[in-house]
Amino acid sequence: MLFWRDLAGHERIKESLFKARQLGRISHAYLFSGPPGVGKKTAGLAWARALLCKKGDTDACGFCYDCQLFERGAHPDLKIIRSQGASIKIAQLRELQDSAALTSFGGGRQVYLIEQAEKMTNAAANCFLKILEEPPAGVVFILVADDGMAMLSTVMSRCQHYRFNPLPEDDVLQVLGRTCGGNNDQARVAARMSMGCPGRALLMLNGSDQREEMLQLLMSLTGQRRYLPVDGLGLDGREDLDGFINCTRLFFRDALVWKISGSTELLINIDYQEAIAELAGAYEEQDLVDILLTLEKSARRLAGNANQRLLIDSLVLQITGSEREV
Ligand SMILES: [Zn+2]
Repeated sequence: MLFWRDLAGHERIKESLFKARQLGRISHAYLFSGPPGVGKKTAGLAWARALLCKKGDTDACGFCYDCQLFERGAHPDLKIIRSQGASIKIAQLRELQDSAALTSFGGGRQVYLIEQAEKMTNAAANCFLKILEEPPAGVVFILVADDGMAMLSTVMSRCQHYRFNPLPEDDVLQVLGRTCGGNNDQARVAARMSMGCPGRALLMLNGSDQREEMLQLLMSLTGQRRYLPVDGLGLDGREDLDGFINCTRLFFRDALVWKISGSTELLINIDYQEAIAELAGAYEEQDLVDILLTLEKSARRLAGNANQRLLIDSLVLQITGSEREV
């Protein structure tokens, strides 16, 4: 697991929290927000590690008992809260409230990392708000959220909020190099297509399972070249949509590369050559460029919390060509 000092990019946030740890000015609650795959959870864990080590100066020391426990993923004072089903429920927050009231196992801090914190139900968020109003001593909450603005504003205002912006391509490559030793053409293309989010690039390189499913959906759109109602697509919620847009971008990107160069060398989905050739054959070069531009725009608008239904609607119109025929 990473140290805070080893995080790629996000220099301003790193500096600010180095200083906070050095001066002992630790907040009760942090909110790390930013697009999916940008590295918020990795940062949250690295910050938790820095908070649980009782030695070190600006960061965890890496040698003490706390650091060793953390490295093994076995530190009893780090607790991770995730959604159960579609949401984080009030029962989970009540349980958290009870356990936060106890003293820590190791005599230091207790750290609670709450993933996708925007998924708290209203009741859960209100319960959390009560905890934050009288925060138990020695307890630090790290909230991680794709969409910080979707949180209750009263919760947000009680957290120290850090926004994680997309990383420059070189930083994404640094993460890829460290995680999967990738610094070849494929890694470079994945870094470029990830829009500054290493998590996305890793999914691409590891051949996310979503691809087969998304390719089927895409082929049903391009094959029939007719508009399907949004509800018929089986895309449910922001994550599905994000997955669809990302996979589709890569397939259309490959189709364009294939059409222009006729070469398989620079394909990302190298294992889907047949489908890519089919896709390339179904569109004119300019159509592929237009669709790619729309997909880029859609990805940005999705990150900016656009209306998902309208967004997928216009995307499908463009892919099926219905827009051009009208
Ligand atoms: Zn340590």
